[in-house]
Amino acid sequence: MAAAARAVATRAPQAIINDPFAEPLVRAVGTDFFTRLASGDLELADDEPTALRRLTDGIAVRTWFFDDFLLRGGEGGIRQVVVLASGLDTRAYRLPLPPATTVFEIDQPDVVAFKTQALRSLGATPTVDHRPLGVDLRNNWPQALSDAGYDPSRPTAWIAEGLLGYLPPEAQDQLLDAVTANSAPGSRFATDGLPNFTTMTAQDIQAMTRTLTERWRPLGFDIDLSELVYLGDRHRIEPYLTARGWTVEAVSTAELLPTCGLAPLGHGEVPFGDVIYLNATRPETR
Ligand code: SAM
Repeated sequence: MAAAARAVATRAPQAIINDPFAEPLVRAVGTDFFTRLASGDLELADDEPTALRRLTDGIAVRTWFFDDFLLRGGEGGIRQVVVLASGLDTRAYRLPLPPATTVFEIDQPDVVAFKTQALRSLGATPTVDHRPLGVDLRNNWPQALSDAGYDPSRPTAWIAEGLLGYLPPEAQDQLLDAVTANSAPGSRFATDGLPNFTTMTAQDIQAMTRTLTERWRPLGFDIDLSELVYLGDRHRIEPYLTARGWTVEAVSTAELLPTCGLAPLGHGEVPFGDVIYLNATRPETR
């Protein structure tokens, strides 16, 4: 879904992102609804553009935020990147990062194998030293990272984009702890989430995700998004990181949209507009 939205956002008249691999990757996945969305072939109901724009503009600013984060890290001298839950992220292939950069990517083994093969078939080549790892982020992924050559003494730019809600609450804590333990001074960490995810009830979240599912079911969308996320109490990310020595800046989607020259999304019933983005820095001296 994120890659399909990136394909739409890439074709927008004043596009703020450019992911030329998004559409062919979605085609390679072969799910009809997303292929039609990515290719611009969906026949939309009259009221549908609003929901679709919430998705595609929301993903556009999300992509822009994490692209900007990595590019700034590169400008600041960071040459080690870890993309947690890389999915169909193609930053190692499309961003002008310094060539001496090493980009580690972690996702589920099938996802990593699929994307690596699909991009190879497209003739795409990474612009950096690219090291994809198929590991479950609920398991001992820091060991896999270390085995692949990760150097915890070097400052690192980490991204966890569209991930945390897909982890059980205790795995979220373990992930944030592991990122902290493996971050040299000067490291940076960016992530996103729904600010009220911790206070929403399971019923709230199910209602929110089912709204979207029902909205798009007539167009061929048949995934119950509420089945993909872990519900229940979890720590709020910003204070969790602050308590562990990170300096955290937060920006909302509503703030990012005008920065990117996009119109406000308004308060619709579809949830994408409420996401906040966190940009955390590990101080140079602890
Ligand atoms: N960051 C990517 C992006 O923005 O396009 C992907 C975001 S997608 C919403 C969530 C990703 O988390 C999927 O690629 C999924 O495979 C991955 N994921 C979920 N649970 C995981 C786990 N336990 N271990 C590794 N990856 C996981």
